[in-house]
Amino acid sequence: MRLIFLGPPGSGKGTQAKLLSERLGLCHIATGDLLREAVQLGTPEGRQAQELIAAGQLVPDALVNGMVRARFEQTPRPTRFVMDGYPRNLTQAQFFDDLLRSLGLSLDAVVFLAVNDDEIVQRISARWSCPNSQCKATYNTFTKPPRSPGRCDDCGAALAQRDDDQPATVRQRLQVYHQQTEGLLAYYRRQGLVKDVVGVGDIETIYQNLVAALAPPKP
Ligand SMILES: [Zn+2]
Repeated sequence: MRLIFLGPPGSGKGTQAKLLSERLGLCHIATGDLLREAVQLGTPEGRQAQELIAAGQLVPDALVNGMVRARFEQTPRPTRFVMDGYPRNLTQAQFFDDLLRSLGLSLDAVVFLAVNDDEIVQRISARWSCPNSQCKATYNTFTKPPRSPGRCDDCGAALAQRDDDQPATVRQRLQVYHQQTEGLLAYYRRQGLVKDVVGVGDIETIYQNLVAALAPPKP
């Protein structure tokens, strides 16, 4: 099976992509991992990406495309895979189509994990962590609240929220996501590839929705 996973930040897309690849024996290709790997290995792409990220800039499509191409040129070449975080926009999608065509591969489906914005904001802004560098305990006000509100159970420090997890920042990230993804979704819908999956519920419930969406229609 050859799949692309799409979904907003905080939708659990990465978790589901990983789960599906583990259970079905597919290659999980996450752009985040490819980037981290390139940075760690100090490849030219890695160094370029590191500088851009440090300067708070976006990694350009050509660089990301290059890393994905390199991944598909590795032996053994991935022939059954789940793409997680790629393609992110139309330019990348067109590059990826050409790449797959040149390898004689085609996509089976594009999974779209749908979660509405309010739910995402609520989920992400529930994350708090202990700023004490010796402790770094993490909390979630819904699923794992601290015993005393705003205080770390382990060391008593006042809990903090990452900038990225604050509601205003989350809304901003979602706006960027929608801008990029609408064109991408339309592109794959025209090809009849999109499988819509409801991304609400616990991990196993969402996984079952996913498996049902991917199952061939009953005759
Ligand atoms: Zn602590």
